[in-house]
Amino acid sequence: MSGPAAPGLAEVDILLAGGWVLTMNERREVYQDGAVAIRGSKIVEVGRRRDLVERYRARRELDTRRMVVTPGLVNGHRHLLCCPKGALPEGRDTLQALRDFTYPCFATLTEEQMHAYALHATAEMIRFGTTTFEEPGCNHLEAVLDALAASGMRCRVGPWTWDQDGPAGRGDLPDWLVMGTDAALKRLASGVETVRAVGNPLIRDAVTIEGVGTCSDALTLGAAKLAEEAGSLAVMHKATSEREVAMELALFGERPVQHMHSIGALNDRVLLSHMTSLADFEVGLVAGAGTRISQNPSSALKLAKGTTQTGKWPELIAAGVPIALGTDAENVSNHQDICRSMQLAALLPRDARRDPGAVTAEQAVEMATIGGAKALGVDDAAGSLEAGKDADVTCFDTDNFDWRPLHNPVANLVYGSTGHSVHTVLVAGEVLLDAKRLTRVDEGAIREEVERIDREVLASIGVCPEPAWPVL
Ligand SMILES: [Zn+2]
Repeated sequence: MSGPAAPGLAEVDILLAGGWVLTMNERREVYQDGAVAIRGSKIVEVGRRRDLVERYRARRELDTRRMVVTPGLVNGHRHLLCCPKGALPEGRDTLQALRDFTYPCFATLTEEQMHAYALHATAEMIRFGTTTFEEPGCNHLEAVLDALAASGMRCRVGPWTWDQDGPAGRGDLPDWLVMGTDAALKRLASGVETVRAVGNPLIRDAVTIEGVGTCSDALTLGAAKLAEEAGSLAVMHKATSEREVAMELALFGERPVQHMHSIGALNDRVLLSHMTSLADFEVGLVAGAGTRISQNPSSALKLAKGTTQTGKWPELIAAGVPIALGTDAENVSNHQDICRSMQLAALLPRDARRDPGAVTAEQAVEMATIGGAKALGVDDAAGSLEAGKDADVTCFDTDNFDWRPLHNPVANLVYGSTGHSVHTVLVAGEVLLDAKRLTRVDEGAIREEVERIDREVLASIGVCPEPAWPVL
């Protein structure tokens, strides 16, 4: 459609017209034949299609009558500091995988390689319907920022930081980014400044420390305070396994979350990733402090974190803790599909508790959208389809067996769909995926480049991934 608007019709840039629309607004309203009007980067109105087509004339109208339209999905934990997908030797738990494979990979990466990995990872996320993500600590921050701006995604990001002086000890940690506590705190503050200096409204800063036993109390507390003072978000891995819990109990006589509370480092500007090993009383500590969480179910399963045994997901949800779903790093989920995370987040607690109502499909969708946006502190701009918010939208093509028959879009989305059915994705009003084609990135070229880099990285750390079966 083009030309001036007819009398009485307001002009908008894009009208998503028709199909199920899950708004995820305060009342969680769902339109069966809905529409979303978008002008510039903002949503102008969400409503019934028959009403909006009478009110707006769009430069571009997208026919979404055979689609399910949701807020753009949120990934609460996705490392851009990658290592070759599918190359992690099998049989490692969290601490072994980090030391044997992940850290050595990280240490080899150049700025150029980091840039390519970031472009590849963001392209993959967009292709699977994610519009916002949290990067829990990367190296070569400037190169990553450049790739993030090129991707068009919304995110939080900060520099990989540790002081290697935590309960796990210096022991077997690599000779990579070695720094004292003061230098680590300076790196965090400078990371916030570097991100803010870019001035991209889609890219927000994070105060990112590793956690998992590699950071001193002084660094953990310093990060939490910096996030509070700077209005940022302190992000760290915490309570990721029973081994980590045992380590802290031996050293401090306290569990990881309990210890954070004791030293004054739990606040409402802290996002704790994984949190698979909690005691009941720690749920209250997290909720009381307003602390946020990211849950990474497929990573938890692959690394045998015990999420079904020692996770407190139903209790955390009931306590109102903001929870995002994440996929974690390249080799611990091997996918970037939040649809798969939703399915696991809804189903694992049911089996663990033998309670079919432990986590509902609706709660899973909340974690993947508005709940995730709250956990990441970006719900002022994203997470729901409402007038005044940025137009971050994911449209699922329902013309396939995973979506049809279609009676309840929430059930089909959580239990049946994968990111392969994502058809169109917008971030701040820009179409980044158009009828399953990425608009900013040459998919084939970036994939080839990353495979080339993978071979260089694997050669330099002496890993040769192959099936356990004879390869002829
Ligand atoms: Zn992580």
